[in-house]
Amino acid sequence: MSYNVNEKGYYGEFGGAYIPEMLYPNIEELRQNYLKIMSDASFQDEFHQLLKDYVGRPSPLYFAKRLSDKYNTKIYLKREDLNHTGAHKINNTIGQILLAKRLGKTRIIAETGAGQHGVATATVCALMGIECVVYMGEVDIARQAPNVARMKMLDAKVVPATSGSKTLKDATNEAMRDWINNPVDTHYIVGSVVGPHPYPDMVARFQAIVSEEIKAQLLEKEGTEDPDYLVACVGGGSNAAGTYYHYLDNEDVKIIAVEAAGKGVDSGKSAATSLLGHEGIIHGSKTLLMQTNDGQITEPYSISAGLDYPGVGPMHANLYKTGRAEFMAITDDDAMTSGLELSQLEGIIPAIETSHALAIFNYKTFKPSDIVVVNLSGRGDKDLQNYIDYFKL
Ligand SMILES: *Cc1c(COP(=O)(O)O)cnc(C)c1O
Repeated sequence: MSYNVNEKGYYGEFGGAYIPEMLYPNIEELRQNYLKIMSDASFQDEFHQLLKDYVGRPSPLYFAKRLSDKYNTKIYLKREDLNHTGAHKINNTIGQILLAKRLGKTRIIAETGAGQHGVATATVCALMGIECVVYMGEVDIARQAPNVARMKMLDAKVVPATSGSKTLKDATNEAMRDWINNPVDTHYIVGSVVGPHPYPDMVARFQAIVSEEIKAQLLEKEGTEDPDYLVACVGGGSNAAGTYYHYLDNEDVKIIAVEAAGKGVDSGKSAATSLLGHEGIIHGSKTLLMQTNDGQITEPYSISAGLDYPGVGPMHANLYKTGRAEFMAITDDDAMTSGLELSQLEGIIPAIETSHALAIFNYKTFKPSDIVVVNLSGRGDKDLQNYIDYFKL
């Protein structure tokens, strides 16, 4: 048994491509070409060159000594926060822009909630000189002004989604509509391991560079490629998928996935999708999602905009269902406290998404000899106002 995707685009019972007929040509073009293009030597050369010289990879695997002392175990941090644009998202957008070019596309669309994926997309479009349109809910545009400004500086057009709750799902609908109307010249850069097949697999492969590097770096530092535990926060699941990718079928390595409990799993204000969700279809994929008894999607809540998604990628739904990964849910308060703790113990201010992953050390005890690798998915600069408000700094 494998925890990776099968030929039909499923992880166990999750995944697939549940799309309107009118999107079929776009998805089919991608499905038929993505593996062929990605395995091409010139693609791999260009991808790795940009990861090295533009993104700044490999990102360090840092042994966090003071944090390790505090929790009496060996904690390594995979420093995705040091990447250009401050998080792991750029790994995926670099991959997809190169793929789009090889498919002959001349226009990029994307949707964004907090704006981080919008910025990563606008960045690679500027790099390549390709037209970029980012759909964003009107409410989110007002909430995320600095990222809107970044996208504009990068010459992207930010289009407000004015229907429904005027947030991420409405922006997604607008992007889908655009793609249906522009199937030939446009590529849709999806920002996480979500959406119809082949997106979850394609994005996981671009993010897999994270676990590829962990293996080599751990071998050098510890004499083994295998940690005892891998830990990552899960919004849609892309930084986690990258962290787990090369270890998925190696069950000696335990996997921990950390979701946002918000104000508490049972508070009605949460984004702990796996714990609260049921099987359903969201954005073209069969997965676990938070929904009412009659199938209406429930609004998720988390202090961290990047974890505030009502679904989870199909890989993760399967990791949950099969028990391959242990899922933990961390509240806003615990995440904020752990963000401050990392800042003061290690001099690293993490993104609030990442702070959720760090908080598990208060709830789970590891052995002193355990090697625990935590993906430090992003840096906290973007969250400074949140930290200021929370701690009254
Ligand atoms: C977007 C984001 C996440 C959540 O997205 P995933 O697809 O689950 O990785 C986590 N951490 C940071 C820093 C982010 O920007």
